[in-house]
Amino acid sequence: MAKISINIASGAIEKPNVVVGIDLGTTNSLVAYTPKGELHPKLVGNNQNFIVPSVVHFDDNNIPLVGSKAKQLIAQHPERTIFSVKRLLGKNYHDISAHTDYLGYKIINDDQDNLVKVNIAGNYYNPIQLSAIILQELKEKAQIFLNATVDKAVITVPAYFNDAQRQATRDAGKLAGLDVLRIVNEPTAASLAYGIDKTDQDKTILVFDLGGGTFDVSILRLEQGVFEVIATNGDTYLGGDDIDKIIVKYWLELNGLEIENLNQNQIQSLRIAAETAKIALSNSPELPFNTPVQFGNVTLNTYIEYHTLVALAEPILSKTMNCVSMALKDAKLLANEIDEIVLVGGSTRFPEIYKLLSDKFPGVQINNQINPDEVVALGAAIEADILAGNRKDILLLDVTPLSLGIETAGALMDVLIPRNSKIPTRIGREYTTSVDGQINLKIAVYQGERELVTQNRKLGEFILKNIPAMPAGFPKIEIQFAINADGVLKVAAKELRSGVMQEVDIQPTYGLTDAEVETMLESGMINAQADIELRLEKEAQNEAEQLIYTAKRFLEKHGILLTSEEILGTEQRIESLRGLLLSNNRNEILAGVEALNEYTRPFAERVMDVAVSTALKSKKVQDI
Ligand code: AMP
Repeated sequence: MAKISINIASGAIEKPNVVVGIDLGTTNSLVAYTPKGELHPKLVGNNQNFIVPSVVHFDDNNIPLVGSKAKQLIAQHPERTIFSVKRLLGKNYHDISAHTDYLGYKIINDDQDNLVKVNIAGNYYNPIQLSAIILQELKEKAQIFLNATVDKAVITVPAYFNDAQRQATRDAGKLAGLDVLRIVNEPTAASLAYGIDKTDQDKTILVFDLGGGTFDVSILRLEQGVFEVIATNGDTYLGGDDIDKIIVKYWLELNGLEIENLNQNQIQSLRIAAETAKIALSNSPELPFNTPVQFGNVTLNTYIEYHTLVALAEPILSKTMNCVSMALKDAKLLANEIDEIVLVGGSTRFPEIYKLLSDKFPGVQINNQINPDEVVALGAAIEADILAGNRKDILLLDVTPLSLGIETAGALMDVLIPRNSKIPTRIGREYTTSVDGQINLKIAVYQGERELVTQNRKLGEFILKNIPAMPAGFPKIEIQFAINADGVLKVAAKELRSGVMQEVDIQPTYGLTDAEVETMLESGMINAQADIELRLEKEAQNEAEQLIYTAKRFLEKHGILLTSEEILGTEQRIESLRGLLLSNNRNEILAGVEALNEYTRPFAERVMDVAVSTALKSKKVQDI
């Protein structure tokens, strides 16, 4: 018989509530939890379906499909099937333009610093929304499996993720209806899964994470139970897939074939066979692989032995070991100063990796007993259990009860220090102006979980004065938030080009009762999804307003270089975007932004050409 819990004070029936740990991966994602009263975390799902591929497919009605079924549609519907979203998180078009070739879907080039968006049949999605769709699927999977409410989670991110990427991950969680209790570094989670923190000694740990497409090495310092990342290195485009490609190349040579003579399906079959061979040889090095591949009536010889695989993989493995050396160098450590190694990622099952690491770090314990695909999610579930207050043996450190941030365009709250951050802490973020010649900047500091500052608590404001007049977007204004051990917040603003600065001290918890904090948290949670949707709408409006401003300025300054038809065309698109702004429809506004951007891009390029040729001319004059 099922049991229910009743809250004695309110009489309400309480559903069990579980805090889960989520490994939101580039290729695959997993959820884990710690059963009540137990110490060991478990994965959500049944043996064969723990893993949810991080792939989203949109059907003809734009209904998203997530996971294995979506993955199967990559080849068939490349423009509607999104994979590797994690590579786009917190990035703008310029950050990723060099790597868009292999993506079958279209990334919008907006010539600005906005976060990337994908256009799928007229709907604009940013990586936060796409990640939220994956998280939503994971959340539902957990709710069904655990028969419980799942609305709180710990999510892991790579140690090298910057502030914007971490914030984007939090927002994705919020949009998926999850209260993200903490963002944890993947290597830290893996170390927690091995219980490395359960010691009084300080330790230095190297986490070696080789997956299908990415490689990360992190060096962590454990002091008094707290992990700190002291160095990271790696290659975001290196992994087991590269070994598969080299095997395919080897087989083609063995059979006297050129890759150009094969069609996509044949290449795909060979890749799959190569991965099978790699895994088979990894698991049983003494048995050669010899399962021929059939192309029509041609039989391909795929014979390969372990020592050949090792020789073929050597360039990839030596790249990873170079990254290890660089991480050690950055951490100013010698190999013999590493106390333990943790292996993460499916490719670390290749025995050669263990061998190379034990050669470089003789006598150091290499932790590889936990499944390397699952270890991060399991560690996240341990952290989740700690934050849920279920582990009485672990002391929770002082944390910020509510998020702290500043007001940005559109009255949006830009969180600098998320709630639940350990204190003391410090963070800096760069901002700029949106209007030409702006010399004063108001910095208004708020506290709370809502996306609009008007619904948060204002802690104070000050004005950074006397910024030298510069074009919009040119000043670099760094805002620093620092909370000391007593909980006092120091906010400093500095224009980095001129050195102009100003700072204030604020006591964030002053005059706030526990009940008020609780109310603010609750209203943040209740309104989380609606709030994020509102933020996305406001951001689209900001983007449109900024583009209208820039386009008008462009016409004023460079109109002379355009034909009257081009001027008219630009003005019409500005007007139509103005009209769309009134519609409050995000997709329509973004379509208007894209139309104006596409239309004016050649003009901007023309002006650049003129600027460059003028510069060249003036250089010549000077030279003579
Ligand atoms: P991950 O991204 O962590 O799931 O890792 C997936 C990668 O691990 C793929 O490139 C797999 O081919 C690889 N992999 C899985 N099992 C093995 C194995 N036994 N030996 C070598 N590589 C493996």
